[in-house]
Amino acid sequence: MTVDASWAREWLVQSAAVIAENRSELVRLDREIGDGDHGENMDRGFQAVLTAIRDADDAATVSGILKRVASTLISTVGGAAGPLYGTAFLKASGAVAGTAELGSDDIVALLTAARDGIVLRGKAESGDKTMIDAWTPAVDAAERAASDGASTADVLDAAAQAAEGGAAATEPLVARKGRASYLGERAIGHRDPGAQSTALILRVAADVAKDDA
Ligand code: ADP
Ligand code: MG
Repeated sequence: MTVDASWAREWLVQSAAVIAENRSELVRLDREIGDGDHGENMDRGFQAVLTAIRDADDAATVSGILKRVASTLISTVGGAAGPLYGTAFLKASGAVAGTAELGSDDIVALLTAARDGIVLRGKAESGDKTMIDAWTPAVDAAERAASDGASTADVLDAAAQAAEGGAAATEPLVARKGRASYLGERAIGHRDPGAQSTALILRVAADVAKDDA
């Protein structure tokens, strides 16, 4: 489908469903190297997003929708992830302001702004075992795909695949940011929950864009 406001709505509606389905898995991952609330935090936030975008008559653009998502996540998710995802969606909204239909370069700009927002807020670097380890490979893969002339759906698919790979690649890492950093080497062998939720959300973005409807 066209990567426009309908895509953005569908992305968020389906993300809420996927986060709900994966709630206990995200709780399990966060129990292993954190405090076990990531699944609950994200599920609460995305359920609130459903209401926020349903009631948002004014949110007729990708940017407007993402902005509403940002404020909803900031006020409902809590923990480390709330402000981080909130900033990501806020910066993403800014990156596509005034654009009705996103092209490949707009998608790269959206993802880059989201990632940069998380870094600005959380100061994590690649390899710190955080959600950045899913976002940065996604940005890099999207950039490569876009410069190879890939379609918008393929750019999003490249990003999703790279985020999935990035989330899996957090398993052998020692954490240097967030609660998991208190565990030292005991974090080894466990996947970062925020990297996993990022991979889930970016996978939905790609799958929705692939839909013909
Ligand atoms: P909390 O850690 O407060 O319980 P959550 O469990 O909801 O919050 O979120 C934890 C996730 O937040 C981690 O798995 C990691 O991906 C992400 N995270 C934590 N600190 C940072 C940071 N400084 N930069 C980027 N991501 C971070
Ligand atoms: Mg937690």
